[in-house]
Amino acid sequence: MELLKGKTAMVTGGTRGIGYAIVKTYLDNGAAVALCGSRRETVDKALAKLKAENPEYKVIGLWPDLANPQEIEEAVGTVKETFGKLDIMVNNAGVSARDKLYDYKPEDFAKTMELNVNAVFNCSQAAAKVMKEQGGGVILNTSSMVSIYGQPSGVAYPASKFAVNGITKSLARELGKDNIRVNAVAPGVTRTDMVAALPEEMIKPLIATIPLGRVGEPEDVANAFLYLASDLAGYVTGVILSVDGAART
Ligand code: NAD
Repeated sequence: MELLKGKTAMVTGGTRGIGYAIVKTYLDNGAAVALCGSRRETVDKALAKLKAENPEYKVIGLWPDLANPQEIEEAVGTVKETFGKLDIMVNNAGVSARDKLYDYKPEDFAKTMELNVNAVFNCSQAAAKVMKEQGGGVILNTSSMVSIYGQPSGVAYPASKFAVNGITKSLARELGKDNIRVNAVAPGVTRTDMVAALPEEMIKPLIATIPLGRVGEPEDVANAFLYLASDLAGYVTGVILSVDGAART
């Protein structure tokens, strides 16, 4: 099934983890994709891995500084030049935080917000301008289960994901008239590099708190991004879709 046949997408944080799974799922469903990462080397590596799997994939790599609106506008321009349009913008790049409040450096708080919030604003703005012009589009954001429950340290991370939910719900209201849908996916604990590195004794008690009895796979999350990007979700906007096995911590 090719749910995204003829569509074009730009995915930030596409070099590994959840973002890479989104890119691959979109390609497997017929989309042309611009994979974005923070560095050329990691972008090239991800592109080589995809091309080794399927040389027919329509994928290009970009590495704009997501804190720089000018660079993002140029990247969106490149997507438009290469593929003719931009239908789906996925704001997925993000960093987590664990700092205790008493030791938190303001510059570290600001750094997390810069990528997890400001970059979402920057990319949404650049994408929406193009989408409005072409008659519509879809903006999708990666939130987190911590946007509902908070977390016991690293306050910038849940704060940033609460902000992502706010951006999602507000832009859905603002951009509906331009036929632009805006949604977010809120993953629970997902098996990316970060989680794979955790020792078994940390993973086991974690899994015990998840009703579905396992951590999420990047593909579980990517499938939610597929649905929300596709025309199947044509009347869905302003939603924060949890993909967390009903975890409640
Ligand atoms: P990851 O660390 O495996 O990948 C992060 C991606 O973001 C990479 O592609 C990296 O290139 C990119 N990135 C990091 N810093 C960047 C920067 N300064 N500029 C541009 N790109 C940058 O992480 P992941 O687990 O796949 O997380 C992806 C998203 O999912 C994040 O927004 C994260 O908050 C969210 N999330 C992850 C989990 C989880 O358990 N893994 C749970 C909930 C939400």
